[in-house]
Amino acid sequence: MARIDDLPPLRDVIATHQLSAKKSLGQNFLLDLNLTAKIARQAGDLTQCDVLEIGPGPGGLTRGLLAEGARRVLAIEKDERCMAALAEVATAYPGRLEVINADALELDPLAYLTPPIRIAANLPYNVGTELLVRWLTPKEWPPFWQSLTLMFQKEVADRIVAKPGSKAYGRLAILAQWRAEARIVIDLPPQAFTPPPKVSSAVVHLTALPQPRYPADAATLSRVVAAAFNQRRKMLRASLKGAAPDIEDHLAAAGIPPTERAEQIGLEQFCALARSIAGQPV
Ligand code: SAM
Repeated sequence: MARIDDLPPLRDVIATHQLSAKKSLGQNFLLDLNLTAKIARQAGDLTQCDVLEIGPGPGGLTRGLLAEGARRVLAIEKDERCMAALAEVATAYPGRLEVINADALELDPLAYLTPPIRIAANLPYNVGTELLVRWLTPKEWPPFWQSLTLMFQKEVADRIVAKPGSKAYGRLAILAQWRAEARIVIDLPPQAFTPPPKVSSAVVHLTALPQPRYPADAATLSRVVAAAFNQRRKMLRASLKGAAPDIEDHLAAAGIPPTERAEQIGLEQFCALARSIAGQPV
């Protein structure tokens, strides 16, 4: 396979900088640079964009993003041990890579970025889901990012793109699909990583829509959906009892049978229900 850059192979980088994988930081590294370049390509045309990368580790995806022409990459990594390896990548791509040693859950990266901005990451599952929910639920829409290209456990990826009627359908699907277009773009077996995790993974690509698919107040929608799926086996008239007085009237206004379960309700109907509860025209 063609080399994507003149830097050493990632196995050598890991050996030189003694980056043995730490379980506590969810470190499962991608060592195949052709694969990381392929993931970077899923992020779209990066040549005019700043890319925010969370969790660069030894720099596999970072190198993919830079080799694919990202205008600039801002990489936030919690593990101090990775800084020297990432400094070598920064030297190979002068002026295009800035690395910050920080916890991505604590740092607001906006001050370091110039729009248009795309986000790419291969993160531990719990951090990834928490950041995804934050990125999907800002007060204002459109958000600061144009697209998200993120690695998840396959099971989480399935929940993001799930449609009504499936087991995976729930709050994450609604949050993701209300204001973004979400697709699984690459499936990866455990062996793609070093060390291999127990489960398969998938890369999800989300593109921010200019406006939500259907009008609704974000906080009301989020509250209703959380209540509906917290007790997903129950009929909505029961699971949503606490969501609003006269819930059956709101369900009727939104055209939802009160005996239906959350799993069967599409995004459009959930938005209509949220509008009715918020006193907006349905
Ligand atoms: N991007 C590299 C790759 O694809 O090989 C590393 C992926 S590894 C699954 C996850 C990376 O996220 C690790 O380098 C880990 O140290 C880093 N990380 C974990 N928690 C983090 C956090 N809260 N903030 C920033 N980085 C974090």
